[in-house]
Order: sequence, then C-alpha cells, then structure tokens
Amino acid sequence: MTIINITDKIVKQFNKHGELDYPHECCGFILGSFKDAESRGVEYLPASNTKEENRERRFLIDPMAYQKAEDEADERGLSIISIVHSHPDHPDKPSEFDREHAWPGFSYIIISIQDGKAVSFRSWQLNADRKYFIEENIKITKEEKTNVK
Ligand SMILES: [Zn+2]
Repeated sequence: MTIINITDKIVKQFNKHGELDYPHECCGFILGSFKDAESRGVEYLPASNTKEENRERRFLIDPMAYQKAEDEADERGLSIISIVHSHPDHPDKPSEFDREHAWPGFSYIIISIQDGKAVSFRSWQLNADRKYFIEENIKITKEEKTNVK
C-alpha cells in the first residue's frame, strides 16, 4: 500500500485552487520525491485551464501541462508524485471518464467541491489491468521549518 505524505500547506493550496476554478474542474501537480513505498510532496503546482469549451469535462491532464510540470520538477531535482483534479458537485471518487483516461502507476488526488467549497479529497491509483482504482493513504504533515537537516 502506498502512502502519500503532503503538507497542510499543499492541501490548502489545492483546495483553494479547486474553489477558485469552480464550477470548472481544476488540475494541478504535486512535486516531490519517492522513497520506498512512500512519496513526499513538497510543492503544489497549479496547471492553468486553457480550454475554453467544455471545461467541466476537460481531459484529465493536458499533455502540454504535464510536460511543463515535469520540466519544472526536473529543474528542482523533484518528481511529479501526484496529479490533482477537482470534481465540481461530485464525490471525491474516480469517474468512469477518469478510469478510461488515467495512467496506471500514477497517483490521482481528487477533490470534491460542493457549492464552491472544497469538502473532501482522496488519493487513487489505477490498477494495472485498468479495471478499478485503489485508494491510497494520505498523511498530512505540518509545513516543515526551513532549518531541518
Ligand atoms: Zn475526475
């Protein structure tokens, strides 16, 4: 079972992003690193929503946005550890659309935005046979002070 460690600051950032983009879906990336079966997020990188039409049913991840995020991660010696998107007025569970478009082995955090308010979020990974998602454990840590070793 994989565990994602993210800071409370990242949670605040993606919740806010989801609320600002409501009633449209927001999308973003968490940059960080992997160690054993755990990942540790250090930064939230919002992806801008460029498609004007059909934004509620926007493609899970724009390949260009993904490339840009990967470049940013590389520059900092980090990796993309999770792809975040919101579900306006829907639960924090993957949709059929998500199952068809997700990539196995990637972490997807889904935020449920109800009436413009972020109410819950969960993390999912698509099983290798692409038939179902497995929920991942999210551990929320306090933003670390700058002077830790
Ligand atoms: Zn979705």
